[in-house]
Amino acid sequence: MRPDEVLKQVGQEVAVCQKCQLHFGRKRAVPGEGPSNAKIMFIGEGPGFYENEQGRPFVGAAGKFLEELLAGIGMQREQVFIGNVVKCRPPGNRDPLPEEIEACSNYLERQIAAINPQVIVTLGRYSMAKFLPNAKISAVHGQSFQINGRLVVPMYHPAAALHQPSLKVDVERDFSRLPELISKGVEASAYQDEDGTVHRDGIEPRDEQEHGKPQPAEEKPQPKQLSLF
Ligand code: URA
Ligand code: SF4
Repeated sequence: MRPDEVLKQVGQEVAVCQKCQLHFGRKRAVPGEGPSNAKIMFIGEGPGFYENEQGRPFVGAAGKFLEELLAGIGMQREQVFIGNVVKCRPPGNRDPLPEEIEACSNYLERQIAAINPQVIVTLGRYSMAKFLPNAKISAVHGQSFQINGRLVVPMYHPAAALHQPSLKVDVERDFSRLPELISKGVEASAYQDEDGTVHRDGIEPRDEQEHGKPQPAEEKPQPKQLSLF
């Protein structure tokens, strides 16, 4: 299946999915949106009130801030893929439960495999935990990690940053570094050991690296990684 067909298929499946209890309160599922060949993928937590109404990700206040952050690096939301860890709104915007994240995992996994982005930006703790279990966001935000052959950059959630001025400064600074990471050949600035320890300012020694340097898009290995989570 072509990447755009995978995204369409996932969209159709989540619209009628009953794999977890979040489907009970669903008005519209929010599969995520953006080009199937996006170089950057943003992964948030889950739909909120307006997202559930409209079936689109990040359309409320956090979305407006995300658009401002993108504009700050000369990008528009139409150029990136924006998705979430869970595709249906947790009631009252509560945090998604582990079993809900697990139930929804396959959709995100297929989206990542289809898009094969150069950089994944995780927004908030739940999205970060998919790639960097045990990491503390206060310690690792804005750093780049090489995970399954691509760069993953954890950042604070825009909604959290909206409510805390200090986090807002961090998010803005972390965002300003994204263009450099999207350009070819940038290596990870940190890595995480098997035991969860994060090492900064350096990459894993080459002979211990499982997947090597990030590849330019046209040279990315096939088949794509499906064992992300
Ligand atoms: N917050 C999220 O994490 N995702 C959305 O889609 C909207 C707000
Ligand atoms: Fe299905 Fe995900 Fe919605 Fe749960 S949150 S019902 S797993 S689409």
